[in-house]
Amino acid sequence: MIIFPVGEDGIMNTKMRRNLMSFVTALMLMALVAVFGMPLQAKAETKVHTAHTGSDTDGSKHEGWTPIGTAEDLYNLAKTGGKGYLTKNIAIEMMHISGNKEVNLCLNGYSLEGGLDCKINTIELREGAELNLYDESKNTGEITNNNEDCILIHLVEDSEVTMNGGTVGNSNGWGVEIYDGSFTLNDGNVSGNSGLSSCGVRIISGNFTMNGGNISNNTTFGGVYVDGGTFTMNGGAITDNTAAFDGGGVYVDGGTFTMNGGAITDNDATDNGGGVCVRGGTFTINAGSIGNNAANNGGGVCVSGGTFTINAGSIENNTAEYCGGGVYVSGDGICKIYSGSIGNNTAYQGGGVCVDDGTFTISGGEVAENKSNYGGGVNVLTGNIIMNEGASKIILRRGMLAEYMLMMELL
Ligand SMILES: [Zn+2]
Repeated sequence: MIIFPVGEDGIMNTKMRRNLMSFVTALMLMALVAVFGMPLQAKAETKVHTAHTGSDTDGSKHEGWTPIGTAEDLYNLAKTGGKGYLTKNIAIEMMHISGNKEVNLCLNGYSLEGGLDCKINTIELREGAELNLYDESKNTGEITNNNEDCILIHLVEDSEVTMNGGTVGNSNGWGVEIYDGSFTLNDGNVSGNSGLSSCGVRIISGNFTMNGGNISNNTTFGGVYVDGGTFTMNGGAITDNTAAFDGGGVYVDGGTFTMNGGAITDNDATDNGGGVCVRGGTFTINAGSIGNNAANNGGGVCVSGGTFTINAGSIENNTAEYCGGGVYVSGDGICKIYSGSIGNNTAYQGGGVCVDDGTFTISGGEVAENKSNYGGGVNVLTGNIIMNEGASKIILRRGMLAEYMLMMELL
């Protein structure tokens, strides 16, 4: 029983009320620790596997782990859950993990290749299943498949994949598709998924968190395709991907993409958004860089729908053949800059930013040292440019403001 203190007159004074508040807060904190503390610790333990140099040939690096030398061994591991490591290259039809099973698999420098009959998925997770993937330090082990349109890792029914090493790629289809669940990339590569219909990671719903590793050399639909759900990028690199249409590095058609770190570099789109293309949903950059990307319009970023917010970070050294070296705003697109920089980008017109319909709002940050034939900083073809108070800090060089003011005077 808890007895609340009262004054002599039976009423709590201010000091008593403050003491009571502290007491209640402490109680709530203790309750939170009791509820959430233990399960979190227990879960973290299962994901520890130190990357090793070279492959383990005598089992000395995997004490307590099951050697996996055949497809049958692998299917058994999937059925029971547990820890296993490959001892040779294995050809499989499909690995199916379900029923809340947790599988820890070290590729150990070897490959796991989906068979000819695998028309859909090489590894499929259902019913809350969990896969933790590891490899030796160079990430030479891989999960691959040569068939067109095959998905290498497919997550449905709230399943979970954490990748700590290895390569998911060199396929003619899709690397990872999150239909429902969560995928975390801490280390390793999702690379070389290159076919008529292919992409590195696709999120339909659920979550993708990228803390490290590389998403590279994926083609047709580029590095990451966000249909819905959330994509949070905290680190790592999305690099050298190409899109046949829009969004070489990342394409956002819905959902939420938040960039808190890492780099989106050297990606290429045939049409719009070499680094990132936003057609719907939201893209917010809080840190990190988008650089050296190229496209027809929007070398760094294209915003033709949805909202792109720049809170910090840099969009630099991108190139557009035609409009918007750094950022291209068109259609219903909304682009807002509060801080950060758009610099050293190049285009035929609007070196930094090209507004071709849509709205570009400047409340701070820097648009500087961009180059183009028309409107080095910002070129407005149609649409709106709104400059708020904080915009006085922006350094505008090579014509943008001058050209914009000239246009205003002529009107
Ligand atoms: Zn290992």
